[in-house]
Amino acid sequence: MNDHNTKKQNSDRRPIRIALPNKGRLSERALKLFEQAGLKAQFRADRALVASLGDDFQAIFVRAADIPEYLADGAAEIGVTGADLVVESGRDEIVEVLDLGFGRCRLSVAVKDESAVQSATELPAGTRVATSFPRIARTYFESLGTEIGIASVSGAAEIAPHLGVADVIVDLVSTGSTLRVNGLREIDTIMVSTARLVASQAALDGETTRQAIEDLSAALESVLRAEKKRYLMTNVPRARLDEVRKVIPGLSGPTIVEVLDDGEWVAAHAVVDADRVYHTIARLKELGAEGILVTRIERLMP
Ligand code: AMP
Repeated sequence: MNDHNTKKQNSDRRPIRIALPNKGRLSERALKLFEQAGLKAQFRADRALVASLGDDFQAIFVRAADIPEYLADGAAEIGVTGADLVVESGRDEIVEVLDLGFGRCRLSVAVKDESAVQSATELPAGTRVATSFPRIARTYFESLGTEIGIASVSGAAEIAPHLGVADVIVDLVSTGSTLRVNGLREIDTIMVSTARLVASQAALDGETTRQAIEDLSAALESVLRAEKKRYLMTNVPRARLDEVRKVIPGLSGPTIVEVLDDGEWVAAHAVVDADRVYHTIARLKELGAEGILVTRIERLMP
């Protein structure tokens, strides 16, 4: 039996498995996102490495860096991990299904502050690179036509240039403060990374698993979309409705509801951008709006 069929049989015998980061930067947000989508992890015991996730899925908790491997081996069908880790794994059979937006960082090349080098293209052949991303670093310098030596480390690469172990580092950066504290300066960005929902090609090839992945992706996406929006309700003078429509266009025009008074007022409801709510309220007040109510939205499917 070929490898593909073995993987398929494995997943036929058990619930569909989702590999989630067990600790580290991505783990808490990933678990919260699934819970917001209606898939709350039910642990049998404290610190369990397996949990049921809603009716359809089982979660396994493993290191973010190992998730591409677990998927490629057919131990899980779906996973959440950083885009950087998917690329570093070099596993072509891992497919990105959805960008989850959190865990944003960049994989950068950095040199010592006092170095005269301004760009990675200036680095000479034989440059020694300390990194926990050897595959990405090698491919990147190959694309520049520069032969490098790799010092493979599993973390804290920042110290390597100061120990004389390497000339530059390739490492993840979010604010840049760790680099600054360690006397390093970014000279190039290799890639920007965020957390991704990923699936194995084998899972996407199975009819049942593909449907489950699509449904899961749609549910997670609806939560992410809703987080950027608010539901706004307000009473407005009927005479100002044309202007109100311009301030709160909503998804397809505001919903207008009659208010049981003498006909002077109506209620307007609309989905608005969360990051503009402050301005939206100010504009509505200028139009004479009263009783403005803003609430969070759990899910939004346009
Ligand atoms: P972990 O090692 O489990 O904390 O997860 C590391 C993953 O979190 C990385 O592979 C990135 O995808 C993501 N991440 C986001 N910001 C950072 C950062 N500043 N440093 C390291 N990893 C980050």
